[in-house]
Amino acid sequence: MATGLLSTREFNVSKREKFSEWYNTVIYAADLVDSRYNVQGFLVHKPWATRLIRGLYSLFEPELEKDGHEPVVFPTVIPKENFELEKEHVAGFVPQVFWVTRGGEEEFARPLALRPTSETAFYQMFALWIRSPADLPLKLYQSCSVFRYEHETLPFLRGREFLWIETHDVFATEKEARAQLLIDSAIATRVLTEKLGIPLMAFLRPQWDRFPGGLETVAYDVLMPDGKINQVGSTHILGQNFTKAFGVKWTGGDGKEQFPWSTCFGPGIWRMAGALVSVHGDDKGLILPLPVAPVQVVIVPILKSEEKRKEVLDYCLNLQGHLRTHGLRAKVDDSNKSPGFKYNYWELKGVPLRIEVGEREVAQNKITIVRRDTREKLVAESAHAFKHVEEIGAKILDSLRAKAEAELKERITTSATDKRQVKAALDSKGGFVRVAFCSIAMDGEPCASELQEFTQGGKVRGHLLNKKEKPDASEKCVVCGKKAHEIAYVAKQY
Ligand SMILES: [Zn+2]
Repeated sequence: MATGLLSTREFNVSKREKFSEWYNTVIYAADLVDSRYNVQGFLVHKPWATRLIRGLYSLFEPELEKDGHEPVVFPTVIPKENFELEKEHVAGFVPQVFWVTRGGEEEFARPLALRPTSETAFYQMFALWIRSPADLPLKLYQSCSVFRYEHETLPFLRGREFLWIETHDVFATEKEARAQLLIDSAIATRVLTEKLGIPLMAFLRPQWDRFPGGLETVAYDVLMPDGKINQVGSTHILGQNFTKAFGVKWTGGDGKEQFPWSTCFGPGIWRMAGALVSVHGDDKGLILPLPVAPVQVVIVPILKSEEKRKEVLDYCLNLQGHLRTHGLRAKVDDSNKSPGFKYNYWELKGVPLRIEVGEREVAQNKITIVRRDTREKLVAESAHAFKHVEEIGAKILDSLRAKAEAELKERITTSATDKRQVKAALDSKGGFVRVAFCSIAMDGEPCASELQEFTQGGKVRGHLLNKKEKPDASEKCVVCGKKAHEIAYVAKQY
């Protein structure tokens, strides 16, 4: 695996034919990360990736705040006894926990976990803060990294430390908790699909695949170019499990103890970065939609004669000022490299729009705008640069989205009626296989296990959250052949 910065000339891998090699090359070639830090599985995020990730946070956080969430910063460490209060949760997470066992020379009597997720930190405090229904709803979020002891790691897809947002919401009633699930799913869809052009499939996960300690899990799946699925986030209905375990309660008028309901939502910022790189990129590198591109417009001066040099550069700087005044992240690349080198470099970085300015443009008060995705060129009046950038930026996003949606549609197989056909579809084109399935309640688990083994990794993702699909009365489960109660989707995952 490549680890350091490659020169742009070395980047020439077919994404379609060799996705894994493409991915492992582009993340280093575009200088997103460096994996040479000397603790395995921990990654250094370089400025371009850091800005991209900040861009993702800046799309999600206002959406959460509009929905009434407040930001908090909780401790990174969680005492072991907090974990042990919810027994399914501890069983689910402890194999992945990093433990801090010493401070200086002193051994701790109780080890501290580096948070793998923070329910057990938040509920500790919720027990102190929530005393009556008047304290609810309580909706908090934190933007942070979490730690999991993973054995196989892949940048932006699986890591020992990764970045996300976690919300922790508490409600007086079950109804409000269930309503929050739909709000979370709408936020995930709005950000991913509308602002980033990445289509999502939201699934109610099978009961055997829910969050440890939760009642129900909805997860947001993105199709990657190799046909495998990248789960970019999830919402869990925790019921009263955590509020009961941590004593978050009040006494009602009838003298009985009341326990509120709760939910949590984890937009996987890191995995979204992986999705952005993969879904939109091409053989020239990244293609970033305008809302998250660290540089949205790069302005490349084409300097030919020495006497016009200053005039061309000033023209570029004026243009940069004009675009920045309108709130765009514009940048003049006035380095000593050739224009051709600069084109390749910024294409590799995924900058959505390039403006070329040569002597002819200056003489005519024009600019040449080039789209990163299609490389179409448009010569326009310099005075209207902002309007054009805005319009073309929107077109790029629409076209990236349409392309990704078409790819997803093409990779949903609907014709499989037995497990051999499911396997054949997964082997030939990956993606999702839509099947009749007996049940996503616990009694369907043996069929799911059998299918996963038979297809070498095809997992039952659950049924669609937003589309009521039911099998016909005559349809049979693709595995056991008994009456099907569900339309489920099967896919291989990261
Ligand atoms: Zn079955």
